[in-house]
Amino acid sequence: MTPVLVINSGSSSFKYQLLDMDTESTLASGLVERIGASTGSGTGLGIARHTVHAAALAAPDGPAPTVVDATRTRELPIPDHTAGFQVMLDAFASDGPSLEDHAPVAVGHRVVHGGARFFEPTVITPLVEINIDELSVLAPLHNPANLAGIVAAKQAFPGVPHVAVFDTAFHQTLPPAAYTYAIDREVAASHRVRRYGFHGTSHKFVSEAAAVFVGRPLDELRQIVFHLGNGASVTAIDGGRSVDTSMGFTPLEGLVMGTRSGDIDPAALFHLARRAGMSIDQLDDLLNKRSGLLGLAGSNDLRDVLAGIDRGDEHARLAFDVYIHRLRAYAGAYLAQLGGADVISFTAGVGENAPLVRAATLQTLGFAGVEIDPERNAERGRGIRIISTDSSSVTVLVVPTDEELEIARQTLSVART
Ligand code: AMP
Repeated sequence: MTPVLVINSGSSSFKYQLLDMDTESTLASGLVERIGASTGSGTGLGIARHTVHAAALAAPDGPAPTVVDATRTRELPIPDHTAGFQVMLDAFASDGPSLEDHAPVAVGHRVVHGGARFFEPTVITPLVEINIDELSVLAPLHNPANLAGIVAAKQAFPGVPHVAVFDTAFHQTLPPAAYTYAIDREVAASHRVRRYGFHGTSHKFVSEAAAVFVGRPLDELRQIVFHLGNGASVTAIDGGRSVDTSMGFTPLEGLVMGTRSGDIDPAALFHLARRAGMSIDQLDDLLNKRSGLLGLAGSNDLRDVLAGIDRGDEHARLAFDVYIHRLRAYAGAYLAQLGGADVISFTAGVGENAPLVRAATLQTLGFAGVEIDPERNAERGRGIRIISTDSSSVTVLVVPTDEELEIARQTLSVART
């Protein structure tokens, strides 16, 4: 058994997953949230949810376990990340699997921004911590929270390598033409304003899984991956290398998302600042938290938007149309950048679960050899599956993403060297 622990730390919560990398199965996972709530308002209690998975409950050579997942939720004071990690350790001790029998050989950390500095998984030394902290200028909401998790995890697991896996790393192969904004180059260089791209761990996982599924070498394939969740991005991948992606300097650029606008003329912001007197913080809040599906239809959840359309809600209809219009624009752009595509994949909450979105996005791409099979597209399934017709020259797939597994793979690859 080769256990690896994966941590995805936010400012007031963190998710964890313990995987056995011999079988690539999950032993336990959990969520510690409302960290710091005990020092603020509300109930004053944090919430910890710990799930022991079937793989951990199965006896090595015994029959399959009757309990598939066992989840326990606790409410207790969790003032900071260090306390949160103690809660996680307590959950392992009381609910299993035992961390003595399943001691992690390495801990992998999701880090959102690696700037132009980190292009591969990196063992976290004190210098790397300083670099992650310094990159907080580019990701003020994310990198400090990621770092808080790293510091607390290092205290909880002092004897093993900790590895940072960056959301931006996969996109470090973008050519200058794709990552450069057409602004004064000295201003851009002195403030590191360029396109970085995000969701890289997912785009890498999905494109590699797709190549295995179609049984062709990754380096021969032109792929387009749509990661459509609450955050959404699309990437053009040529021979396994990201060559264009819709998110840019921050995860705000590109597609219409749950609460984010995606692309907008920046002059609209000058206008709102001058004419509506909105401050930079108000504009930031507007575009990141009050736009996208939420801004247009009143909910960030596509299921609500689809239900609204069924009720005849015209705002929901327009929100859906804008969402699809943008997806088609990027699909067309990336077909042009790649000179066609061999594989198109959909992943994440919307991509995996909304056949209507997949069909509408690709509906007009018959000219590029894309043909969706409506029955295959409508079928529900858990694993990777094909939704194009047998005669389609582009293979269209639904590929469930697994960022934790990808982080664990990358963590192990550097921890072992
Ligand atoms: P994620 O960020 O990948 O967890 O995706 C979350 C989003 O997926 C939700 O906000 C929903 O908009 C969307 N979603 C989840 N399940 C469905 C579904 N069955 N149909 C449509 N959208 C869904």
